[in-house]
This record gives sequence, structure tokens and C-alpha cells, in this order.
Amino acid sequence: MHVMLVSCCVLVLLMPAPCVTAPTFMPEGESSPSTEPQVDLKLATEYLQQFYNLQEEPMGRMKRSGPSFTSKVKDMQMFFGLNATGALDADTLEVMSSPRCGVPDVEEYSHIQGTRWSKNVITYSIGRYTRDLPRNTVDSLVESAFSVWARASSLTFVRSHTRSADIMVEFVTSEHGDLYPFDGPRGTLAHAFGPGLGIGGDTHFDDDEHWTAGETGFNLLVVAAHEFGHALGLKHSGNPESLMYPNYRSSRPANLLSREDVANINALYSPVRGRPNHFSRHSWNSQYNPWASGPLFPRPMQNKCDPDLTFDAVSTLGDATFFFREQYLWIKHNEQYGIKEGPITNFMPKIETSIDAAFWVPRRSTAYLIHESMFWTMKGSLVKGKPRALSHFGFPAWVQDVDAAVHIVKTGRTLFFMHDIYWSYNENRRVMDFGYPKYISEDFPGVNTTINAAVHKDGFIYFFVGPQVYKYDYTQKHVVGVEKANSWLGC
Ligand code: ZN
Ligand code: ZN
Repeated sequence: MHVMLVSCCVLVLLMPAPCVTAPTFMPEGESSPSTEPQVDLKLATEYLQQFYNLQEEPMGRMKRSGPSFTSKVKDMQMFFGLNATGALDADTLEVMSSPRCGVPDVEEYSHIQGTRWSKNVITYSIGRYTRDLPRNTVDSLVESAFSVWARASSLTFVRSHTRSADIMVEFVTSEHGDLYPFDGPRGTLAHAFGPGLGIGGDTHFDDDEHWTAGETGFNLLVVAAHEFGHALGLKHSGNPESLMYPNYRSSRPANLLSREDVANINALYSPVRGRPNHFSRHSWNSQYNPWASGPLFPRPMQNKCDPDLTFDAVSTLGDATFFFREQYLWIKHNEQYGIKEGPITNFMPKIETSIDAAFWVPRRSTAYLIHESMFWTMKGSLVKGKPRALSHFGFPAWVQDVDAAVHIVKTGRTLFFMHDIYWSYNENRRVMDFGYPKYISEDFPGVNTTINAAVHKDGFIYFFVGPQVYKYDYTQKHVVGVEKANSWLGC
């Protein structure tokens, strides 16, 4: 099997490659070998330069018999399971003239770059569209291509509408701003950069191809699913059954991923990677009412009685109160003695990030957990489905995170706090109230600073500000008490 522990041929793309020339491909059926040796040699040289790191000869001379040329031909033949003769025979030229992915098959520089995203929730955004397909078709094919990987792994993909998404998807032609121009129809179809900041993860489709949702032209779902494999850190496989095989194949099984693909994505994004193994990750999820009966963890991992302790988010959730801090969670059950605690992922395996704000809508038995510009919904103890964009609540586009959120049952409103302003969301009509945002200091006199967390309890709003909590009477509009935030955890 092709070992996939490290990636990634894509990463070669991030390096200023020495004179990569776009290969020219002959249309299918015209690639008969050796009738035009010069054409074949040019094809092979460009192919090997682009995909097998063949260095250009001085003076631009091409020697098909040169040792480095022959050894690159052998590398290529071995990769594709051909007879490794080093000669440009018919089979070799046929593979070289097949439409394919623009990412190289060898990785010379992979040790320089990271190999995977350090998170399991990855955002994507579609920038420039193709005119070959309606926009909503492109949207749904791209979404389907991501879900091919999401179904097979612990990864979640969230569509964003910003240009700062992890994976930017674009349809472009020829020169398009990176060092890897496309080559017109056929030849290279698309390429993607391995995980990383900036251009890392970005995926480009050659818009000189004819993109389709079906069998004619090039099937966007198939090519996109392959490219997203690179964007996640996978490299090419020489196994024709693998989605990560570099060449385009028009006939595909309904299930795009081979067992090899599934194994490789899970080797890269192991569901248990980096987690302390003395926690039982599933002990809570396996029970329907986990915080009533779940086991206490053997020892505290964070000092909850640190006098400077602050919380990122606090929410009631059923009969319990949840306190989030970084990737850690304390749960205090109203009726029970003792506090459960541990990494958030112990309780909610899907959530590998911190939580900025959280609120509970009892009428729907649903909690909403917000991280930056997205949120999860949680019913009972289970995180439902995939995270959604915060814009769902009707925020303007510039709102990419919130500090705190609190739902007030009596008014049916959820208040979202951000810096010195806040919004009011009508949970019954599911729209933002008119006239917001407003200044917090005007409507909550006595609260003049950024709020870390807020929770509604027993008719009061509690504002967590640094290591303190303000008890607020919102009908009388004044602070009625201040205490240490972690007094709520019994300190
Ligand atoms: Zn590829
Ligand atoms: Zn590109």
C-alpha cells in the first residue's frame, strides 16, 4: 500500500518550482507512441518536470537517454504500476497524455510543511464560479465533495462566505496568481495546496475545462473530491481504485472512496489523536441523560479555584450549567453534588474548539454553542449535525464572532454581546429585532466593559466579566450583586 503518513505532493506547489512548464496533452486516441518522437519527448519532459521533479537540462536541451531522465521515467512507471523500463513505450505515453490533477506525484519538500489541519472543523468558501454550471449546482457539488470526506472521517466542513476561509475554491484559467498556471483544455484539470495558512488548502479548477454534473466533460464532484483530499493533506496514490489516483477516470463507483482513502484520511485525522487516554471519551455519549448519571472524572485537570479564573461561555443546559474555558468544560448539575469536568471533546466529540458563547432555549430543548463565525446546536446531550454559520441569526457580514449570548425565556429573546454593543434576536419569529445593535452601557447601566459570558437564571442575568460575575436585574436595570466567577463552581 502506498504509505500516506506524511504529505504531500501538494506542498511542492508551495515552493517556487524551478521552471515548471505546463504540459501539452494530445487528445485521446492521438497519443500513438513514437510516431512523432520529438512530440513524445516534449510531452514526457514536461510531464516529468511537472509531476516528478525532473530538473531542466542546461540550455533547454532534452536528452531522452540521460540518466536523470530515464530514472524519472522509471519513477513514473513504478508509480503507475507500469513496466519500469525507463523507455517511453506506448503504455507510458498513454498515461502521460491522460487528463489529470496538477499536483505532483512526488514530494521533495514535504518535511518543510505541516501535513494536516490542526482542527477538525474546516471552513470553505467558493470564490469565482464556472459558467459551465448553475451556481447552485456548483454549490451542491462542492458540498457533496466535502461530505465524501466528512462521512469517512471526524472532519466537519462549514461553508463560509468570507475570503478568509481555510479552503478557498476558485475556477480560474491560465495564469491565476500562483506559480502554477493552467494549460487550457485537458491536461491538468485542477490543483490544490496542502493544509496551511494563506493559500494552504486552496483549490483551483481550470475553467478552460468543461465542468459537468454528469458523464460528459469532467465531473466536478469527482475532481473536487480528489482535490479536497489534497487540501486535507493527502497525496497521490498509484492505486487506480483510489480517489487519490492522479488521472481522471470517467467511470467511478458510487462510493468514491476506496478503503485505502478511508484508511489514509483517518490516519491523518485520527479521532483520538492527541487526547489524554485516561478519559473515557464515550462514557457520556453512550447515555441519554449523561449529566444525570455520568461518571465523575478521576482528577481535576484545571484548577477551577484559581482566583483569576475566567470563563469563555456559560449556559444552562437542561438541569445543568455548563462553564466553558478554552477547550475545557465544567458541568454543574442543579440536583447533584459535585462537578464533572474535562476537555470539551470528552463530552462533545465533535467540538474540538473553544466556545465563545452559548445559550439554551428551553422551549426547544436546544443549546447553541458558538465558536467564531459558526455555531453548533445541541439537543439533549448530543451535538446535532454540522456547525452552521453565525450569519444564520441575521447578523451583518462583519460580525464574525460574539463574546457572549443569553436567552431570556420571559421575553423570548436571545441577546448577543460583542465588544460594547449587543443584538436582540426574536426566537419566536427567528429574526433580529429592529434597531440593533445598541450600546450595552445604555441598556445595561453598570455594565461598561466587554462581557465574557452571560447566563439567565432565576430571573436574573449573570454577566461574567473577567474573574467576576455581576448579578443583573434587567427589569430594574441595575447590578444587584458581584461575586467571584468560580464561586459558581463551589470555590
Ligand atoms: Zn491530485
Ligand atoms: Zn492555482
